[in-house]
Order: sequence, then C-alpha cells, then structure tokens
Amino acid sequence: MNFDYAPAPESRDLVTIDAHYGLFIDGEFVEPTDGTSFKTINPATEEVLAEVSEAGPNDVDRAVRAAQAAYAKVWSKMPGAERAKYLYRIARLIAERSRELAVLETLDNGKPIRESRDVDMPLVSAHFFYYAGWADKLEHAGFSDAPRPYGVAAQIIPWNFPLLMLAWKIAPALATGNTVVLKPAETTSLTALAFAQICQDAELPAGVVNIVTGDGATGRALVEHPDVNKVAFTGSTEVGRQIQRAIAGTTKGLTLELGGKAANIVFDDAPLDEAIEGIVNGIYFNQGHVCCAGSRLLVQESVADDVLERLKSRLTMLRLGDPMDKNTDIGAINSPAQHARIAELIAAGDEEGAQRWTAPCVLPDKGWWIAPTVFTGVTQAHRIAREEIFGPVLSVLSFRTPEEAVIKANNTPYGLSAGIWSEKGSRTLWMAERLQAGVIWANTFNRFDPASPFGGVKESGFGREGGRQGLGAYLQREVR
Ligand code: NAD
Ligand code: MN
Repeated sequence: MNFDYAPAPESRDLVTIDAHYGLFIDGEFVEPTDGTSFKTINPATEEVLAEVSEAGPNDVDRAVRAAQAAYAKVWSKMPGAERAKYLYRIARLIAERSRELAVLETLDNGKPIRESRDVDMPLVSAHFFYYAGWADKLEHAGFSDAPRPYGVAAQIIPWNFPLLMLAWKIAPALATGNTVVLKPAETTSLTALAFAQICQDAELPAGVVNIVTGDGATGRALVEHPDVNKVAFTGSTEVGRQIQRAIAGTTKGLTLELGGKAANIVFDDAPLDEAIEGIVNGIYFNQGHVCCAGSRLLVQESVADDVLERLKSRLTMLRLGDPMDKNTDIGAINSPAQHARIAELIAAGDEEGAQRWTAPCVLPDKGWWIAPTVFTGVTQAHRIAREEIFGPVLSVLSFRTPEEAVIKANNTPYGLSAGIWSEKGSRTLWMAERLQAGVIWANTFNRFDPASPFGGVKESGFGREGGRQGLGAYLQREVR
C-alpha cells in the first residue's frame, strides 16, 4: 500500500515584501541616480516578487565613498570588542528572524524551505556569532601582532546560497575592521535587502555595510572602483578570471571562490547505505547549485552495480515540487538561464553516448525544474565529466584501485572539494594526502561549520572563508 504526503506548506504571511527596493547606501535606502530597476521572480511560480534597483557607476561610487568615510571615521577607530557587540547583535537578530528569512530565501531562490530553514539560516547566524568572537582577539589569530584591515571591501556573491554567502563575506570583513559594499546576485537580492534592514535595526553605524543591487555591470563597476582596497568574489571561474584581470597591477587584495567538479569516491568497504545518503546530499542538495557538489561519483567497480541500484531506489523517493512545502526535497532551478545551461549539458551527455536515467517525478507546469538525473557509462572525456553543470545531474565513473581513483579524481582543472567513503581510516588519509582539493570530507559530504576553513585550489580559486583562516582574507599581508 502506498501512502502519500498531504501538502505541508510553510506560511507566506511571515514575510512582507515591498513592491520596490532602493539601494542601501550610508545606512539608508536610496533611489539609484539613473532610476533603473529590474524584477526579481520566484523561480517556482514565475511570480514577480518585487522590483529591485539597478546600481549604476554613480551609485557604486556613492556606496564606496560611504564605506570609505565610515571606515575612516568610525569603524577603524572602534575597538574590536565594540565591533563584536554589533556582530553579536546582528547574529541574534538573524536568529530571531530566521523563519521569516528562510521563507524569503525560498521564495526568491527556489530552494526547499527545509533547506533554507534547517541549513542556510542556522549557518548564517552561526557565522556572525563565530566571527563576533574573533573581533577582539585578532592579534592572537596568528597573522600579525598588529593586524591591519584593508579598508573598503567589495564583495560579490552568487545566487545559490544568497544570505549564507553574504554572511561568509560580511562577518569576517566586519570582524577584522573593514567596511563593505556588497553586491548580491541579480536573481536573489531580497535577503540581502532584508539584511540591510537588520543592519538598521542593529544600529550599525551608517556606511559600514552598503548593499548595491544589480547585474554583472554593477559588479564590474564595484571591482574596478579605485577606492576599493579588497575584492572578494564567489561565482563562476570565467568571471573570476575577468576580475583577476581587471585588478591586475593594483594593490587591491583578492580572494576568489569559484567553481568545482568534485569527486565523491566510494570504496567497496564503505558503509553503503550511508554512502547513498552522502551521494544524494552531495549532488541533489540545493538542486545541485553547489560549487562543492559531488558531481562526479567514482565508485569502486566491485560495488558499482549495487551502489547504482540503491541510489536509483533512493532517488525514486525524493519529492520534487513546491519549495514552500516542508516535505519537498528538490526545489526549482534558480533561473531560466541556469535551466538552459543544465539542459544543454544534459543534451551533451546524451549526444556523447552516456546513458541517462531520470528519477520519475512530475514537473510542475510553471517555473523551472529538472528531475534528479544520473548518467552512467561516462568517460573522463565527456563534457558532463569535465564541466561544472551546477544542477541535479550526477556523472558516474568507476575505478578499480585507489591509485586509479586518485588519478581520475584529480583529472580536472578544478580543486574545491572531494569526498571519500571507506571504513579504513588509513586508506582515507592516504587518499586525502593525494587529492587536489581544498576541502575533503570523509564519510560525509557538504558539511559546513563556521569554524572550518573552506576554499579551493587550482581553478577553484584561492583564499579561505570560515575559521581562523577566513580572517586572513581581510587582513593586509604584513612584512615581518
Ligand atoms: P556569475 O559568475 O556570472 O555570477 C556571480 C556573481 O558575479 C553575480 O553577482 C553576478 O552579477 C556577478 N558578476 C557577473 N559578471 C561580473 C563581472 N564581470 N564583474 C563583477 N561581477 C560580475 O555566475 P552565473 O552566471 O550566475 O552562473 C554561471 C555558472 O557559474 C554556473 O552555471 C556555475 O557553474 C557557476 N557558479 C558558481 C558558483 C559558486 O558558488 N562557485 C555560484 C554561481 C555560479
Ligand atoms: Mn529570484
């Protein structure tokens, strides 16, 4: 007998969305000087949620000047213990408003409420709590006896974890004494604007945090502004390269957190049921819109059939649909542009001869959706094994020996993360020493903690976010 779930929708009444949002500059919401705006939509329903301002070069300039003045007059003069009070206050306000923020994130991004409520929001406030604790202890963080902030930090973030990426950027920047101008991604501005209101509620001094909304052109104007001292970017490797070129020859500090093509490696001695959960979490969490997603499953040949059978059976149970429903596992693809990119790579997988399996689920009529997809018969030459798909698409390859697993795992220009599933600690450590990845998970995947540094090697970027190491990204290198 089959039981079905009754709908369990989270209430939308928790949030009030304004029809129009200005830019947050110098502690206030202001209209852009050229008056342009764009619509932000709910990708699960195609409903227009609000109109968001597009910051032009003049607006970016205003924001940078506000950040510069706040740095010089207030923030750089304030003792770390005082800065910490503001960060603790922000952390508490986020925790108090987490249900509302989770709903807003789900509406604007399309991710399941279960994830925004249980993963994103708890990590957001945890990040502010964590870095609040460092603000008065910077001289003990191992960088310098007199650590110096950069000044004005320009921060550009993507749409996959909108408020979490904001927290990863703003919390360490403020803790170290920088002021910031942050640009959220154009499809997911609303939680950043809600954060601006939280800064007002926390009575954060004007200009310490500025939020300019807009697309890549706004981002470029921000990166290239001569009075920006530090640039922190998370997004595609292509834009990361453009940014690196744009600031070459300047004294601006730079950290880049870019794409990935992580190997999730399952050995024959792995606890298989747990590994299946880890594979699912690795690539289908957040619709696969995850830079460290375990998008290449490397499974030892002797257990490959068993793993695939269990995986498909598990995927058949996932529920795709209304992101606001508390029972939903797979939400909407964030934008039509991202949907097109994923569809193009799925088509490439078909054309190049891999075998596609798709989880049986009914896709809603409105919005953008992709059912969990598994490709077998994938070779290392296939595009789906080489390129970041950033969607719920898994490429399965097999291996026979640990040596072969290492060679295949490292056969990518990326190096953000990797997963190892094995019961043997010695084998896990042997593998971890040889894998070229900034983050390596053992018998788990996509596990995050503010105290743990995160970041890549090779074309996945440089610099770390999180942990003591994350402070280093916002402190000037000292000559000692
Ligand atoms: P993107 O790199 O274009 O956008 C990321 C952010 O950079 C956005 O805020 C965007 O407005 C801004 N931006 C764009 N061009 C810029 C420029 N020239 N200068 C400064 N800022 C600029 O990413 P996308 O187009 O949204 O997605 C494309 C692909 O990138 C995805 O398919 C995925 O593979 C990858 N991606 C990776 C991450 C990650 O977390 N590493 C996040 C998003 C996307
Ligand atoms: Mn949106």
